Amino acid sequence: MSIEFSDTDIQNFYKLLSLNLTAYNCGNLCAPENGGEPYCCIVENAVPLLYREEFKYLQNRSTIWSRWKPKTKHNKKLKSEGESRTAIFSECKGVQFCERENRSISCRTFPLEPYIDEKGRFSGLIFMKEFRGKCPLIKRLADFQQKTIDNHYKFWCLIFEKRPDEFELYKSTSKGWRISSGKT
Ligand code: SF4
Ligand code: SF4
Repeated sequence: MSIEFSDTDIQNFYKLLSLNLTAYNCGNLCAPENGGEPYCCIVENAVPLLYREEFKYLQNRSTIWSRWKPKTKHNKKLKSEGESRTAIFSECKGVQFCERENRSISCRTFPLEPYIDEKGRFSGLIFMKEFRGKCPLIKRLADFQQKTIDNHYKFWCLIFEKRPDEFELYKSTSKGWRISSGKT
């Protein structure tokens, strides 16, 4: 059964996700190719999916977040299929208005997600498959800071304790990854 996140939970999550993935600003790697904006901060490239409680929490603290309003038929379908009882697609006002302390979990964890192995163990983090060819960090895995990775791991453990549905979701994503990479 899913347990609702309190404001304190969200504050704890943000604390665990406060460190940068790399010692440098990785936005400088991709922004020149994307009109001066980091690739993952452009909603047409990556739409942040927020837990509903997180969205509410941010709405009480900031004016930068709103519900995502897709414009194309494809994106409208994506929204209706991707949103759920627990999570909604959202968009921020853009990088020039970014408030570091009010970045979403999606912003903070990108481009990594949990990997659940064949035995159903949460064994680590993996680069999100759909962004492997798009985020330049894929060629700089050695630049990831271990302390940040450790904290992200702790963060996902907390999520899975409260949200078994999230565990099931990543179990299925990880299985899909194994199939597509020929490991199953
Ligand atoms: S995570 Fe990847 S896409 Fe996002 S700012 Fe860093 S290098 Fe660019
Ligand atoms: S809140 Fe900041 S980090 Fe997140 S998508 Fe917007 S500009 Fe990027």
